[in-house]
Amino acid sequence: MSATKIVLVYQSLLGIYGDRGNAMVLRARLAWRGIDVELAEVEPGEPVPVDGSVYLLGGGEDAAQISAVKYLRADGNLFRAVDAGAVLFAVCAGYQITGKTFTVGDNDEVIEGLGLLDVETRRGSERAVGEILTSWTRPDGAASLITGFENHGGYTYLGADAAPLAKVEVGIGNNGDRTEGAVQGRVVGTYPHGPVLARNPDLADWLLELALGRRLDPLPSGEIDELRQQRVAFVRH
Ligand code: GLN
Repeated sequence: MSATKIVLVYQSLLGIYGDRGNAMVLRARLAWRGIDVELAEVEPGEPVPVDGSVYLLGGGEDAAQISAVKYLRADGNLFRAVDAGAVLFAVCAGYQITGKTFTVGDNDEVIEGLGLLDVETRRGSERAVGEILTSWTRPDGAASLITGFENHGGYTYLGADAAPLAKVEVGIGNNGDRTEGAVQGRVVGTYPHGPVLARNPDLADWLLELALGRRLDPLPSGEIDELRQQRVAFVRH
């Protein structure tokens, strides 16, 4: 069987917040379970691999977002991979470009996104900067928390085809309406950095389970749980 491929997309454009760590977490959590894994990195101008299981987009500035959309459209392979059932996990700027539209600049120019999520992003009333804590219901029905750091000027509004990923407990999230992130099929968008998958291993394992189409055995998580409890206590304080 061929290795499970994690594809880290355009770090030169969408890599300023350390979201690369999400790829390392996914790779490590597969390797720790003895699952063969390969990490592929692709930059603008190179063809995006079509045989990935999970594609990752990270945060970046407005100009970088516009370039990323242009290159991804011209390449077309991310659309093909998602059509074929791959998971796309997109953070912040990556989340915004995965939607239908986002605005940039003082004149709020509307830019067409990839249209893989039924969401639209436009400039918000205040920049959302700070710790964010959300409650997330895991696919097995258990309650979980997602912690991270948000930093975005754009506010995201969900259409009928997208469901919120989580409910905001502390922070702004999508737009101040207490929702955070969006899920549509196997496309997941969210605002928290951290990197978010390092801070929230449950979320990482859910993405891997979506990609592999099966449940994964739990991994020991003593120290990670302890750190999570400290972060949650700090944010709720
Ligand atoms: N440029 C976007 C915004 O400010 C995304 C920022 C980010 O990726 N952190 O809304």
